[in-house]
Amino acid sequence: MIKLDQISVRQIKGVSAPKEQELHAFGVHTVQDLIDYFPFRYEDYRIRELTDVKDGEKVTVLGQVRGVPLLQRYGRSKSRLTCKVEVGNWLITAVWFNRHFLQDQLTAGREIMLTGKWEQQRLQITVSDSEFPDSSRAAKTGTLQPVYSVGGGITQVWMRKTIRQALTQYGAMLEEPLPLELLERHKLMGRRDAVMLIHLPEDTQKGQAARRRLVYEELFLFQLKLQAYRALNRKRGDGIAHRIESETIRQFAASLPFELTDGQKQVVNEISTDMRRPSCMNRLLQGDVGSGKTVVAAIGLYVTVKAGHQGALMVPTEILAEQHMRSLQRLFASHGIEVALLTGSLTERKRRDVLADLQMGMIDIVVGTHALIQEDVFFRSLGLVVVDEQHRFGVNQRSVLRRKGLNPDVLTMTATPIPRTMAITAFGDMDVSTIKERPHGRKPIKTYWVKHSMMERVQGFIRKEVAKGRQAYIICPLIEESEKLDVQNAIDLYVQTQQSFPDLCVGLLHGRMSAAEKESVMGAFGAGECQVLVATTVVEVGVDVPNATLMIIMDAERFGLSQLHQLRGRVGRGEHQSHCILVADPKSETGKERMKVMTETDDGFEVSRRDLEIRGPGDFFGTKQSGLPEFRLADMAADYEVLEEAREDAAELTGREEFWTEAAFERLRRMLQNDPFFQGEQLD
Ligand code: ADP
Ligand code: MG
Repeated sequence: MIKLDQISVRQIKGVSAPKEQELHAFGVHTVQDLIDYFPFRYEDYRIRELTDVKDGEKVTVLGQVRGVPLLQRYGRSKSRLTCKVEVGNWLITAVWFNRHFLQDQLTAGREIMLTGKWEQQRLQITVSDSEFPDSSRAAKTGTLQPVYSVGGGITQVWMRKTIRQALTQYGAMLEEPLPLELLERHKLMGRRDAVMLIHLPEDTQKGQAARRRLVYEELFLFQLKLQAYRALNRKRGDGIAHRIESETIRQFAASLPFELTDGQKQVVNEISTDMRRPSCMNRLLQGDVGSGKTVVAAIGLYVTVKAGHQGALMVPTEILAEQHMRSLQRLFASHGIEVALLTGSLTERKRRDVLADLQMGMIDIVVGTHALIQEDVFFRSLGLVVVDEQHRFGVNQRSVLRRKGLNPDVLTMTATPIPRTMAITAFGDMDVSTIKERPHGRKPIKTYWVKHSMMERVQGFIRKEVAKGRQAYIICPLIEESEKLDVQNAIDLYVQTQQSFPDLCVGLLHGRMSAAEKESVMGAFGAGECQVLVATTVVEVGVDVPNATLMIIMDAERFGLSQLHQLRGRVGRGEHQSHCILVADPKSETGKERMKVMTETDDGFEVSRRDLEIRGPGDFFGTKQSGLPEFRLADMAADYEVLEEAREDAAELTGREEFWTEAAFERLRRMLQNDPFFQGEQLD
């Protein structure tokens, strides 16, 4: 049987070839697309009594024409038409602009519906829309009219008419994709009714019920895909089953300079259990800054190497790549494991060497930036990919690795605690591990907020810390519009700082420096040769110098909360008491609020929660880069509860053995392939 998504919109009466082209611009190709082109709000044409209407409100009323209309023309095309209309017990004036052609139709005694702005003082309605209920073209009287997103040659009126036509022609063919038991459980209406009502709601309540049903459907089908993807991945079992003894892992952990925290131990267990399975690991590790994720990754990499494979650690910046490479080299020095670096700034020659060694298996672990997933990078046998400090990382990047013909285990690590809605949506196909506590003996970072006028005291504080043998960061903000200005800012601050501390070594780090320069500055700071480091946000992620105990953030009001928390996380990494000083004179309320949150808590989950509160869900979730799929109707924040329901239902359904019929499998496969969010993930 032919389906609605196989029928071109041309089959709808009134859709010409040029109109069809215009519809393509809205992603509408088939009848199904058009029927699923839902309105984003309604225009209220329901008739009201004037006594209930406030001055200035938009209203629709029903009345009778009285007297003779009066037409005034201005110039060629402009006109003003007025006419008395009796509405209830009132005699009001209706005013139309540039609608001269209505003059002849305004015959005394005729019923008329007026929509427009009510001006109480003058007893007047400025008409935006009018209709004669006795005429055959009357359509809006007494209704809620859908408002679609339109443009180009497609007008609101045409869109309404055409969708109504599509529903008349094809409404009977609408199918029900949801299992009956779910409709009953959640008291949802059938799809056909819902689609009819969302386009042509009889009243607000019915419109809402229709929307609820369609939102549930959208979220449920999305969750079904995620869960199915996950279940299929499990069933497929074509990943790498790492063969390694628990004892080997324990011995390596015992060789570390510290004992793992309980949280770290638990996550190491979860990861090694996953890695032993023949299916691909797909795990998200979340832990606040400083919770010790790197060493967990190192153990995973150790497991893959010991089992005869190679590991890759992917990070967002070159500084971080170098730092991780050094710490891995230190950890693995006595184990005969070869660690190499692969970033964009290697010389061509060096890069060729690394690529060749990787392919031959001479390198066990490679640390790098996105340079790692480029086309010409081949591994002898890639067993584990770890992605650090990257929470905008969806299904698609993993499929890059898969397309190389590899099925490595993947561990994604993030310090930005992900709100639950987002976690179950964007990462619904992942297993999640969490490290809650920081290593033993860490003291909470003390955070202060001071005005610029207190800079002298701040400098005194730096002196005191340096006298104790500690080190300090001074961060100046990055102004997005002009990197040049930023760099100048950083240089100015650097010069000032040098003048204030002529006896100390002050370093400078910013984005315009070459990789070699950055490395030498970070090296000197890491080794304790420099006491103060003036930097832009390039140190934001992952930099680890445990002896640094003081973080000073200039113009802190320019940063968002999560960025401030990340920056603060650069201190408090050793046994010494650490401090963070926010230097800011915020003008806005939200700016002040952010400073307050920072001084009140140093728990990343709490910071994230307050951030959501201050910014509102729209802004928090709103960005495209968040890795969230785009929904037609559903709103991540507002439809949160429906999302939870849909997820539970999808998980329950895919968990049943009898769900996995040949037909269901085939359908899911097709759904996944056509979904841009999954970017052509192969399921066979
Ligand atoms: P993050 O989770 O922010 O990436 P890191 O992995 O950089 O944190 O760890 C922060 C610091 O804590 C590092 O200096 C690391 O060596 C140290 N560390 C990690 N685990 C422990 C532990 N169990 N005991 C003591 N120190 C630890
Ligand atoms: Mg880290």
